[in-house]
Amino acid sequence: MEAVTVGNTMKFKITSEFGAKESFRNNPHTGIDINFPNGTELQSIADGVVENVVYNHDSIGNAVFVKFSDDTTGIYAHMSSISVEKGQLIQKGDLLGLSGNTGNVVGQNGGYHLHFALKDGSTGEYINPTHYADDLISMTNKDMGIGEKLLQGYNDFADKVIESEVNFILKPIGEAIANGTNELLTMFTLYLPDMFMIVTVLTGLLICLGIKLPKTLTFYTFGLVGAVAWLANANS
Ligand SMILES: [Zn+2]
Repeated sequence: MEAVTVGNTMKFKITSEFGAKESFRNNPHTGIDINFPNGTELQSIADGVVENVVYNHDSIGNAVFVKFSDDTTGIYAHMSSISVEKGQLIQKGDLLGLSGNTGNVVGQNGGYHLHFALKDGSTGEYINPTHYADDLISMTNKDMGIGEKLLQGYNDFADKVIESEVNFILKPIGEAIANGTNELLTMFTLYLPDMFMIVTVLTGLLICLGIKLPKTLTFYTFGLVGAVAWLANANS
């Protein structure tokens, strides 16, 4: 698993949403793309049966279709290799093959990614598969060592800090503090950096340990830390 590195964007995530209309597409995106590098193990996200296996398709390259028990079909596309056969019974977590860049791909790093789509069995329409993204990613990471898990956790943590959403909270709070009374200002600049530093470190540790916290809690924590830092800068 060479993809996990502190401080870059190689952490696994959705790089193209369902229904996306990027300029390189003729039609809205029928699935989600996840930035798995070449050779990432892909597991079935549910029990089912292999409905079809295709090789060298112009668009989806090498792909596995798994019919799940809820009558939806999951499609794993652009794979470098396939380790199942049509008709094979599949349990959740079974290896389907390795990710790759076969078929029609664009993008960074040689276009390596997983295209995952979900089809409704009764209507035949593509439906939004985004609720499976976390499973697709976490199942892939299940063989990581503790060090890699910590790095992945750290990357998640770092992403929260740099996510632009934080700016919506950071600046208004900073301005509110700046416009407040001297006492409030003194209190924030003297005591809160320490307090929030502790909360931030604890939050980071909890996230690294895999404990899910409400998103707002971490955003507000970072927002306040950022506000204090911003204020300290503005005053210096
Ligand atoms: Zn795609």
